[in-house]
Amino acid sequence: MITADSKLTQTVLDACDALACHSEVVGEITRTYLCPTTQEVHTHLGGWAGRLGMTTRIDAVGNLRSRLESKDPNAPTLYIGSHLDTVPNAGRYDGILGVVMGYALVEALGGQELPYSIEVLGFSEEEGVRFGVSFIGSRALVGTADELLAALDKEGRSVQDAIEAYGLNPQELALARLTGQSLGYLEFHIEQGPVLQDLEASVGVVSAIVGQDRLNLEFVGRASHAGTTPMHLRRDALAAAARFMVAAEDLARHTPGLVATVGIVEVKPGAGNVIPGEVHCSLDIRHEHDEVRRRALKELLDGAEREAQARQVALKVTPKMSEAATPMSGQFKALLHQAAEELELPHPELVSGAGHDAQIMAQEVPAAMLFVRSPNALSHHPDEMVNPEDVTAALRVGARFLERLAGTVGA
Ligand SMILES: [Zn+2]
Repeated sequence: MITADSKLTQTVLDACDALACHSEVVGEITRTYLCPTTQEVHTHLGGWAGRLGMTTRIDAVGNLRSRLESKDPNAPTLYIGSHLDTVPNAGRYDGILGVVMGYALVEALGGQELPYSIEVLGFSEEEGVRFGVSFIGSRALVGTADELLAALDKEGRSVQDAIEAYGLNPQELALARLTGQSLGYLEFHIEQGPVLQDLEASVGVVSAIVGQDRLNLEFVGRASHAGTTPMHLRRDALAAAARFMVAAEDLARHTPGLVATVGIVEVKPGAGNVIPGEVHCSLDIRHEHDEVRRRALKELLDGAEREAQARQVALKVTPKMSEAATPMSGQFKALLHQAAEELELPHPELVSGAGHDAQIMAQEVPAAMLFVRSPNALSHHPDEMVNPEDVTAALRVGARFLERLAGTVGA
């Protein structure tokens, strides 16, 4: 029996507090890729790992990797992790909680043997703040980080420079790859949204990480006098764009699980007595099923084209990003549900509307996520919080998951 009690919860919260002190900006929590204070985080967690009987290494992209080896040298590995970097002026739980939870679950084991090894992963980079590319840490494990080495930060230094400046060797990137038999990857993460709070649930099982498209739209009509141009002779770019924006909201409201956002609108020339001649706007559209997202996107763009044509407005669409959805592992999801059920905890399933390391790990191993309720849905903010009882719930589900997973090994 693996026990996770309120004392262990305090250990988790204390560790998150302690790690929050290691910032590259005084007075806030800011830790971008391989900033000097990353070293202090590694030392802190590496020390804890040592006391738990784990061996720790830092791989070539700066991921912290602590292993609790099974007695059986051929035993498979369960990976538990999240990221240690932050956005500027961040909270203390986004990413960090998932790494700390990994060590806490090893502590909960208290030396009990499992038929698998556990590797706790503290990814060096997930947020994409310094280099504008995300997931440098997890991409090294699935062998797709090479192409990121040349990316530059604002000072013109490359990822490769950052790695070398930190005292690591980019030539050893291949050694960061996943090797040996793997059971899969489990990531605990704060929800960063309002769903679990709304459902009054401490934790939730992630069904999938959404796929998303981001595009820019350009409506070009003709600017002219607002007083002298009759309505039927206008080429109003904003009238067409506005119809598109309302259609995006309507379609998303009526399509379960779909979210669509126009976050940028620029109107030219931008005078109260001039008919808008040009509008540039963005679209961000996400869903857990790729075909639903694609169908919705086509419907919206067809509608935008119709509204533009009706006003003799030209429409140009520029795709900026397109990412497929990542379903989480059925087996791991079932084990998480089973664990929560046995503990008589509510265990709703919810979609992750944000990207996470689990979507990268899922390219090679079964991956799953357990979300922990975010009070007031606040994240990427210094007031980011967790409820201690929700952390306890997550620890208990995690401990039960480890036991249930043990039952499947060699079975
Ligand atoms: Zn995160």
